[in-house]
Amino acid sequence: MKILIVEDNKDNLKLFKIIVESGGHAAILARDGEEAVEAAKREIPDVILMDIQMPKMDGIEAAKILKSEQSTAKIPIIALTAYAMIEEREKLGGEWFDGYISKPAGVKDILNVIDEMAQSLRLATKRQK
Ligand code: MN
Repeated sequence: MKILIVEDNKDNLKLFKIIVESGGHAAILARDGEEAVEAAKREIPDVILMDIQMPKMDGIEAAKILKSEQSTAKIPIIALTAYAMIEEREKLGGEWFDGYISKPAGVKDILNVIDEMAQSLRLATKRQK
């Protein structure tokens, strides 16, 4: 699958890219919300992994925009967030996200969520047929 990774921390971005590629997926990278919106519209990824706290445009704002545009509305967005923030997901704009991964995130955390998304996408495609 094609995975868009959005993360302003360079080391995290590099790490997430390695993890995503180790699962046999293609990684597209963005470093803030603005880049994420641009990249998502251009590439139409299968899944987006979205950091919340970023400069320029944060992850919630970017998710809101992507979910309200026709071309990107159906792409699942997984929030990458610190544990404490997961407990506050409703306040965070829980409605804009399809899942959560708590940071620091390991290989399994990330690949499991991508697999889950792949399965639900396959089911949705089957139902349409
Ligand atoms: Mn960040």
